[in-house]
Amino acid sequence: MGMSKLRLVWIYPDLLSTYGDQGNALIVERRARLRGIDVERIDVRSDQPVPTSGDIYLIGGGEDRPQRLAAERLRRDPGLGQAVARGATLLAVCAGYQIIGHEFVDDLDRVEPGLGLLDVKSGRGPVGRRCVGEVLADVDPVLGLPPLSGFENHQGVTHLGPGVKPLARVTAGFGNGTDDGSEGAYAGRVIGTYLHGPVMSRNPGLADLLLTWATGVPLTPLEDRWHEQLRAERLKAVRAAAS
Ligand code: GLN
Repeated sequence: MGMSKLRLVWIYPDLLSTYGDQGNALIVERRARLRGIDVERIDVRSDQPVPTSGDIYLIGGGEDRPQRLAAERLRRDPGLGQAVARGATLLAVCAGYQIIGHEFVDDLDRVEPGLGLLDVKSGRGPVGRRCVGEVLADVDPVLGLPPLSGFENHQGVTHLGPGVKPLARVTAGFGNGTDDGSEGAYAGRVIGTYLHGPVMSRNPGLADLLLTWATGVPLTPLEDRWHEQLRAERLKAVRAAAS
């Protein structure tokens, strides 16, 4: 292992942590430890600077107002941008996904600049439509992951620019909400997704992908019976709802 300690940074638990997104930090941490990787977890509140020396960064979802406040603070803090520029891994969920793009619409109906770490732009979806419910999505085969399962709840819709690829294609649910079937986006080691769940508990392969990117070594497989059971339960629920 070329790394003495993996630094896992969870950004703004005080503002961006809806739908149990904290679970993503717990799961990455646990799956690293099970492989004998030592982890230092750093929870960064919104009044603290984002460290530049992290290996994996996580940002969760949030309601429109906390999302605006988080974006205001992150725009003033160069830490995350510097970390991504030197190749750190980042997973951003829902509000976090919108924030790391070029722009999004805030709770005051204004277009807010994002951090520009992912070539996406978010706007409002059709009036009266909120993308809520279970999602199933086939992941870009390059990433070698089984279909993603998750839960979404967002008003914003996200348009992908030429600098990113869709993370996945929905077979149920809205995903990016642009009606082209795309869900999430990724470029390099930066991933944005609309999936809560938390997404790692439903898709531990995603946690392992981040760990592989961050450590640069293949990981030993783990016994994933509980995750598989949760996946099976959610897949059954989605299929039942669709029939
Ligand atoms: N506030 C954003 C929206 O509604 C993100 C919501 C979320 O993070 N669940 O689009």
